[in-house]
This record gives sequence, C-alpha cells and structure tokens, in this order.
Amino acid sequence: MAKKKFKTEVSQLLNLLIHSLYSHSEIFLRELISNSSDALDKLKYLTLTDDSLKSLDFIPRINIRIDGVGENTLVIEDNGIGMNEQELADSLGTIARSDTKNFMEKLTGDARKDSNLIGRFGVGFYSCFMVADTVEVISKKAGEDAAWKWTSDGNSGYKVEAAERESQGTTVILNLNDAGKEYDSQWQVKSIIKKYSDHIAFPIHLFWSETTGSDDEKKTEEKDEQVNAASALWKRPKSELKDEDYNEFYKTISHDSDDPMHRIHVQAEGTLEYTTLFFIPKTAPMDMFQADYKPGVKLYVKRVFITDDDKELLPVYLRFVRGVIDSEDLPLNVSREILQQNRVMAKIREASVKKLLSEFKKLSENDEKYAEFIEQYNRPLKEGMYSDWTHKDDLINLVRYRSTAVEGWTSLEAYKDRMPEDQKVIYYLAGENEAALRKSPLLGAYKEKGYEVLIMADEIDEIVTPMIGPFKELELKAINRSGALDDLKTDDDKKKEKDAKPVLKKIKKVLGEAVKEVVASARLADAPSCLVSDDGDPSAQMRQMLQAMGQKDIPEATFILEVNPDHPVVKGLADASDDDLVEDVANLLFEQALLVEGVALKDPVAFASRLNRVTTKAF
Ligand code: ADP
Repeated sequence: MAKKKFKTEVSQLLNLLIHSLYSHSEIFLRELISNSSDALDKLKYLTLTDDSLKSLDFIPRINIRIDGVGENTLVIEDNGIGMNEQELADSLGTIARSDTKNFMEKLTGDARKDSNLIGRFGVGFYSCFMVADTVEVISKKAGEDAAWKWTSDGNSGYKVEAAERESQGTTVILNLNDAGKEYDSQWQVKSIIKKYSDHIAFPIHLFWSETTGSDDEKKTEEKDEQVNAASALWKRPKSELKDEDYNEFYKTISHDSDDPMHRIHVQAEGTLEYTTLFFIPKTAPMDMFQADYKPGVKLYVKRVFITDDDKELLPVYLRFVRGVIDSEDLPLNVSREILQQNRVMAKIREASVKKLLSEFKKLSENDEKYAEFIEQYNRPLKEGMYSDWTHKDDLINLVRYRSTAVEGWTSLEAYKDRMPEDQKVIYYLAGENEAALRKSPLLGAYKEKGYEVLIMADEIDEIVTPMIGPFKELELKAINRSGALDDLKTDDDKKKEKDAKPVLKKIKKVLGEAVKEVVASARLADAPSCLVSDDGDPSAQMRQMLQAMGQKDIPEATFILEVNPDHPVVKGLADASDDDLVEDVANLLFEQALLVEGVALKDPVAFASRLNRVTTKAF
C-alpha cells in the first residue's frame, strides 16, 4: 500500500517534540496509557448500551510488554474500542484537536523551545517518536472483522495495511531508539506507570522476562505483575490521596503539563449520590475564547465513562474548569437529549456551580492568590453575571475591577466601604484601554469630590455592566453618559451653568448638527471641553469597537459637547466678538474633545489650519 504523507501540522509537531521535550521523554507512556484508557472507557459504555456489543466478553485491561516482540521493543496493548482503516489514518495522520492546531500555527521563534507551553497542548500519541525509530499500531475495531496495521518512522509519513489481530483493541509496538533504550527495564517502566498512571481505572499489567542461573543452566522466566491501583481516583477516600495523585490525574485529563491552581473534590451522599472532582488550571485554556472550545469535564455514571463532549455539564462561563462528574443515580444509557432535561443531572449541575462559586469565594480571602485567579478568569465570570441570573449575586462579589483609588484589583464591596458618606452611586468608566481611560478628562471632577471611579477595560464591561442592575442598592453609573454628573452639582455649579447659556448658544450655532447639544460642565477640572454620549447611544469607544467588528449601519455619532465655563478658553470665547475667531475656537473645542476620545477627525486639514490661525494670534 502506498505511503501517505503526514498533514503539515503533524510534521511540525513531531519536529518540535523531538527538539524540545527530550528531557521529558518519559511522558510518552502516560500519553499511550491514557489513550488506551479512553479506548476502554468507550467500549465499556458500548457494551452496556449497544445491543450488538452486549454479548461481548469484555474484561478491560492494559498490557505493557518489555521486549515483547524482540529486543529493544516496548508494547502497549489494550482490548478497547480499536480503530478501523479510516480511523487509523484520521486519528494518527492528522491533528484533530483544534486547540493544538491553532497553537502550532501561532508558535514561532523562542516560544518553540518552551516545553511547558508545548506540554499544555496534548502532544498525545506522537510523543512516542521521541523514544522510537519506528512505531507500529495494530488495531481492530469492536464489531468489525478486519484488522489493520499503521506503520511510521515519524518522519515522512505512514502506511496502513491489512493485518491480523485476534480480538478487538489496539497494540502499539515501539522499536526503541537510542534515547528510548532505558525503557526496556522493568524498574524504569514500573516507576513511570506508578508516577503517572496509578489512578487509571483499569488494571495495567507489566510483562517482562527474567533470566537466572549460570551459563550452563540459564533459565528464563516470564513475569507478570499488576502495577497500578486500578480504581477510579475520584472514588478513593480523600484521606488516601496525596497532592501528587491529584496532580497526575489532572495532567492526564487536561493535557496540561503544569499542576493545577486549585482542586475541589466532593463525594456527596444522601438523597443524591455523586462525586465531582474539579480542577482550575493555572493558565486559562488556550481555546477559552473560541466558539469551538473543548469542554473540560467528563461525565461518568457509576464509574462508566459516558461523555467528554457535553458543553451543558456546567454553564458556559465555567468552561475553564477541568474534571469529572460521576453519578450513581443516572441511567447508564443516558443520551445527550435526556441529559439536558434530566432532573438528577440538573441537581448535580446546580450543586457543582454553587460549590465552585463558594470555593472561588474562599480563594478570594487570599489577595495574592486571588489576583492570579482573576488575571485568568475575571472575564468568564463577568459573562456569568449576565448569562446566569440565579448566581448573579455570587458572581458580582467575585469579579474584580481596576480603580482610581487603589493599586491592583478591587471588589465592589471594597469600593462601597471606601465611599464617602455623601456619595450615592458607584461610578465607572468603561472602554478598551486602561491607560487611556485613566487619562480621561471626565475623571477630574470626581477626583476633586473625592469620589472613586472604577476603570473597566475588559471588552465586555461596556455591555455587561449596564445589565447587572444595582449592587446592594447602589446604582452603577457610567460617567461618560450625559446626566451622570447631575448629582455632583452644587448650587454654585447651577448658577455657573445658567450664566454660561450665551456662550453655549454661540458654540452650538457654529457646530450645528455635528453635536446634539452643548452643555456646561462642572466636571472638567483642567480641560476646556469633553464629549459624552447621550443615554442609550453607543459611546465613542463602543462605536469604534462595532466598526472594527465589521458592523455596518452604526447610527451617526450624536455627541453632547460639555464645556468648562471656568476655563480661560471658554471665558475668552464668551467675550469674543470676532466671528471668524469664534468659529475657529468653537470648532477646536469640539475637535480636541474628539481627539481625546480617540476618534479620528473627519477633516484633519481644516483642523490644522484652524489651529494655526488661532496660534498665530497669540503672538
Ligand atoms: P488525543 O488522545 O488527545 O485525542 P492522540 O494523538 O493521543 O490525541 O490520539 C489521537 C486519536 O487516536 C485519539 O483521539 C483516538 O481516537 C485514537 N487513538 C489513539 N490511541 C488509541 C487506542 N489505543 N485505541 C483507540 N483509539 C486510539
């Protein structure tokens, strides 16, 4: 049969692995055992649900043979679901996982050398080429008659041909290379299995031969030993489990080579019996913001694997959580449709969300640790504030913001505690760039009053914040909305506003339809003018964001121009009678406010001429 070429990304990955993960080459065994375990999970499920496979005589196991088919070979064998001809080519000739694919595309330069990064992307099956010159995979799919053999040297490509295999399952034969020689020792292999795969729920048997006696009376004996504990880790008593056990388990289910940030193990008994073991990764999964993200929670029923591809097991905003849910009360043949309406599942889900949120709350008691969590997961939690109304009150206490009053992060509760007595609402300014927001002229008046303003620079803040309602009866008010300042006004301000009417009229006459309104503003401490959006209109930043997203038909900007009657420029304008000068200065007040908001001017040439005319007059 003709040899087939690997898809480009496979060659790239292989190359990368060989050059960057060498010092961790032993992980190949973890990857192969984990594949076997998945294959056994899948078949076990089918023998319980698929009529044609119910009669199958199936005692799941994984066998590892040292020198099983000649010197310097290592064989990993399972009696799981197996692969047919097409599946061998699809699974082992391409990289199916979209996150790995994306990752490969992004990876350039020095990042390629970072083995930690690479470890996060499920190197999977291909890692065996770190220790083998050639690899053979002989497989027979459960329920089919033909067996197939996939062979490759991990360089140019692979071939698939007909083969023999007695029953269903997969045998991986590694012809060890120089670097892989150390893996033909039973001690070495045993210790790696213990280290990485002790928690695998199926028995792993190690086979090796031992030669004893002198030259004349040499005796070779076949030895066999079960190496792992073979019980589902999450079902073992918590008191028996060490941090390392949990961490290794996390690594096999998450494809992350780092230890997790946090874990939550619940063994619930009573009316509803279930176990959940959740992990929070140290670094947010790469695909967290992709629509086709891979869910991280596996569902088991009485230790039988059901699915790892259900996005409904937890709410979408908790998609960064990794782990397992194992229920004693769900039927084994539970289908996806049934799952979604199932009462038991709904209860487990609700209890899980509650537990996760309460654990996050506990985390928040340690500022330093919580900052690490927030750096990764603030944004999905903010999504939760509008998508999960039932837990909004918990979530609102978990999210954090930047602020004009403190370094680092603040909660709304802490903001509330800092509020002076006369302050009645929570003020915020949302946009896309923290540094720019901090320079906004709108902040001046609040600073003068001693009012703190939250700086919200997450993309979704502008959409989410207006929707979450009050926090402990305190309204959240965007300071770039007209009217936001009304509550800051003193009698003195009101008088000033009244006195400013003529100059406001003068400016509006010049600007015409370019602005909706010109109003006096008490909030501008240093600047002569600024722009605000009318309530209900998209703000300047939001408009640009919509434009960048390719949105058409965004309503024309209808800004309100606020001017500072105390500023010398505005005072000068009030007294000026030279029509040309009035026109220039009024336009400049508007244009500089546009520039401060980061909005491009429609006619920069006219702006420059105006600026030059006015400046010339200063000499
Ligand atoms: P991953 O396990 O992350 O999907 P791998 O590269 O390790 O990535 O494996 C690719 C695919 O090959 C698996 O998803 C599975 O479909 C198939 N596969 C690998 N090993 C086995 C096995 N022992 N039995 C059945 N299928 C397997």
